Amino acid sequence: MSANTIRKAKKLVESGGVVKIEDDLFQIKSSSDPGKSYFVTSDTCECTGFKNFYKFHHGKGLKANCSHLEAIRIFKDKNSD
Ligand SMILES: [Zn+2]
Repeated sequence: MSANTIRKAKKLVESGGVVKIEDDLFQIKSSSDPGKSYFVTSDTCECTGFKNFYKFHHGKGLKANCSHLEAIRIFKDKNSD
């Protein structure tokens, strides 16, 4: 994963762009379009980057990632006691 993805993810968490809806469902603001948001679980995301990953790497056994999935990981880390 690129450093840029992690940086974006941290920014999303710090700016309050991550909202927990249910145990494994989060709403995350798009970093490119503030009027837009994505519903994200711990292993799926609605964003184009995530969908494209599977399009381009299908069948290689890789796990897709995007700044939103990473943001959830950071968010959970911060909010666990
Ligand atoms: Zn995403």
